[in-house]
Amino acid sequence: MASLAELDPQIAAALEGEDRRQRESIVLIASENYASKAVLASGSSVISNKYAEGYPGRRYYGGCEHADVVESLAIERAKELFGAEHVNVQPHSGAQANMAVYFALLEPGDTVMGMQLDHGGHLTHGAKVNFSGKLYNFVSYGVDRESETIDFDGVERLAQEHKPKIIVAGYSAYPRVIDFPRFRAIADSVGAYLMVDMAHISGLIAGGAHPSPFPHAQIVTSTTQKSLRGPRGGFIMCTEELGKDIDFAVFPVMQGGPMMHTIAGKAVCFGHASKPEFSPSSCATSVVENWPVLATAVPMLGCGWFPGGRTTHLLLVDYVTPLWHHGRQAEQALEGVGIDQQQDAYHVIPPVRPA
Ligand code: PLP
Repeated sequence: MASLAELDPQIAAALEGEDRRQRESIVLIASENYASKAVLASGSSVISNKYAEGYPGRRYYGGCEHADVVESLAIERAKELFGAEHVNVQPHSGAQANMAVYFALLEPGDTVMGMQLDHGGHLTHGAKVNFSGKLYNFVSYGVDRESETIDFDGVERLAQEHKPKIIVAGYSAYPRVIDFPRFRAIADSVGAYLMVDMAHISGLIAGGAHPSPFPHAQIVTSTTQKSLRGPRGGFIMCTEELGKDIDFAVFPVMQGGPMMHTIAGKAVCFGHASKPEFSPSSCATSVVENWPVLATAVPMLGCGWFPGGRTTHLLLVDYVTPLWHHGRQAEQALEGVGIDQQQDAYHVIPPVRPA
């Protein structure tokens, strides 16, 4: 059979260029990672050809015996890795994992609480431009201006005032350890579900470098491509009681056929994350331990970083206030020396242009 380079030289050249770019630069984009060869191999395997609507043992297509093995392994490995009662590995992405949870537990117009986008929340936590902000009544909480840690008094006050059905914890740009028991106590006080979106910290949780959201959260969503080092995709974990509703919301409400090649990659990544090399004494912890090394370099660049106690692997650098650079300028300057980072609108304290 003809190779990709023979069949489509333009795409082959672009992929080769991307391979070189990734090898020659240091990727400091927290939402990216280098998937293992085994994960990449699963993603380009023949199971990509297979349609398997439904769930293991209950498919709408014939010939699903191998797909069933793959999906069951992914589910069982995730259960064991995170201590979950029920797992759904079919969401195509983190955004779709969150969407399925909202579809399962909410009616349009229902009230939900999530972190404000420019304090570190994700689009799917109620941003006005996103389906979440359009379909549901999101009430945003944020971080305290001084400590730049979650304003729990504010969370409590807003929860009492608005009585949300779900409180979402877990963020895109919040570099500190999250106090899940405190969130659960607030959720319980107003009869809300606690949903944790652990997309950024799932690898740290798997490796024991961040406390687990279980048993505090009733629902946990995540991506697999970030600190878990898996394929691009999402998954949902929840209590047994919510399992049926979550599964129904993923399929048939939100998606059609699952991406079986991606689910194979998820199974590989969950298996890898349960190995000793991912354990507290190695990978996950060294990622966190590297943080202070990077953090000490930041002031040398004339920039500050947001202070405030125990952190995860994330580093929020404020190059806007001291240098009055737009994020894009910093991104381009760093790219010039082979460092990829994420320029974002996330900054807790709005910068004031110096007089
Ligand atoms: N949740 C959080 C906290 C995220 O940071 C992200 C993406 O960065 C997502 C969900 C969405 O993931 P995806 O891009 O796979 O839809």
